Amino acid sequence: MDFQELRDIMVKTQLIPRGIKDKRVLDAMKKVPRHFFLDESMQHRAYDDMAIAIGEGQTISQPYMVAVMTELLEIKGEERVLEIGTGSGYQAAILAELAKEIYTVERVQELAEQAEARFHALGYKNIHVKVGDGTSGWPEEAPFNRIIITAGTPKIPEPLIEQLSDEGIIIAPVGDRFSQQIVKIVKSKGKLSESFHTPCVFVPLIGEHGWK
Ligand code: SAM
Repeated sequence: MDFQELRDIMVKTQLIPRGIKDKRVLDAMKKVPRHFFLDESMQHRAYDDMAIAIGEGQTISQPYMVAVMTELLEIKGEERVLEIGTGSGYQAAILAELAKEIYTVERVQELAEQAEARFHALGYKNIHVKVGDGTSGWPEEAPFNRIIITAGTPKIPEPLIEQLSDEGIIIAPVGDRFSQQIVKIVKSKGKLSESFHTPCVFVPLIGEHGWK
């Protein structure tokens, strides 16, 4: 199977026609080997237009959802980015292509360890992994210029808003347990403004400031 060709087709048929424009995002999606973040038995589905099970009842998000959320982050290159929900590690690898340092928190230890091994194998040195409840953020490494939550949450956890730097952006799927909408929060001069984007369905963000 020619995975590079499958990635090119994914970008051409799933991302560009649905409005993803940021060339850096499209290039990262062409480059990062999504199949490498899946079990061998699922690698042939890696570039399909869907979320895929990664074990522990969790999923790797649909390529389009990864692209939308990444584009909304408006990353220029020098940012420190916090991701909540490492999962397979694919989204973190995309971010590592675009920003300076990536801090990613996962509550399931086994997933965090697998993702870390993948980052090592692919040579990413700017991704830092922590096991724990990401709804409390990563205070020791704050502030962050960008924060992305990759699990569905009833509201943006307050500690994450506190750990966002000024002129920072948070992207998260916000809603009830079974359906959410991508929300973008921009902090400017201490004030927050909110905009609403694509409808989506994510596994729940479970923790002190998420779902109990
Ligand atoms: N970003 C991932 C990827 O690229 O594969 C997909 C994330 S998956 C949709 C959601 C992840 O969030 C799961 O791995 C889940 O264990 C994790 N999660 C849920 N609640 C969490 C929490 N409070 N802190 C950290 N991770 C959490």
